[in-house]
Amino acid sequence: MSISENLEIIHSNIRKACESAGRAFADVTLVAVSKTQPEEKIREALAAGQRVFGENRVQEARAHWAGLRADYHDLELHLIGPLQTNKVRDAVALFDVIQTVDREKLARALAAEMEKQNRPLRCFIQVNTGEEPQKAGVIPADLEAFKEFCVQECGLDIRGLMCIPPAEDPPALHFALLDKFGRELGLPCLSMGMSGDFEQAIGLGATHIRIGTALFGER
Ligand SMILES: *Cc1c(COP(=O)(O)O)cnc(C)c1O
Repeated sequence: MSISENLEIIHSNIRKACESAGRAFADVTLVAVSKTQPEEKIREALAAGQRVFGENRVQEARAHWAGLRADYHDLELHLIGPLQTNKVRDAVALFDVIQTVDREKLARALAAEMEKQNRPLRCFIQVNTGEEPQKAGVIPADLEAFKEFCVQECGLDIRGLMCIPPAEDPPALHFALLDKFGRELGLPCLSMGMSGDFEQAIGLGATHIRIGTALFGER
C-alpha cells in the first residue's frame, strides 16, 4: 500500500466514524505522526495532501521539517512528545501546536519563550488519565488548577487536552474521561486516538487523532 492509498483509507474510516457519531468530518484533524520516518515517506504524505504532522522529539522534528517548512507554507506541526525546558526555544521556533504541556516549570518557560519569539502557539495540556507513575501528563486531581495556572498566570492559549491511555486498559475509558474533563474545563479540543483506536476516539469526541503506523507502516 502506498501512503496516498493509506491516507484514503484513513479518511474513509474517519468519515464513517464521524457519520455514526453524528459529527462533521471537518471537526476531526488527522495529525500524521512522522517520527522515525525517512524523508521520502514524509514527502509522499505531503504529495498526497497531508499538511498536519506530529513529532515526539524536538531534535528529530528539526531534522525532518526545518528544510521542508520553506516549501510548504501551510504546514502545521504538533509536538506530541515530552518537552524538556532546555528544548523550549527550539520547540517554539519550529512547532505550531504544543500538545504536551504538563507542569508549571514548562508552562512558564513556554510562555516566556513565546513572548520572546512573538509566537503565541496553541497548546494542549497532556493528562495522565491512567495515573501511571512513569508517564508524562498532569494527574486528573491537579488538572483544573494547572489549567488555571497556564491561562491566568502564564497567558498560554490552552485549546484542549491530550492523553495516551495505558496500554493494558480499554482506551475508550480514557477517551470518555478526557471528554468529560474537556467539557468541565470548557476546552473544545481533544487529542486522543491512534492507529488502533481512532474510530473509538472519534465516537467519544476526539478533535485530533494522532496516526503513525496506519499511514506510514510499521516503524
Ligand atoms: C507514536 C505516537 C503516536 C502514533 O502511534 P501509531 O500507533 O503508530 O498510530 C501517537 N501519539 C503519540 C504520542 C505517539 O508518540
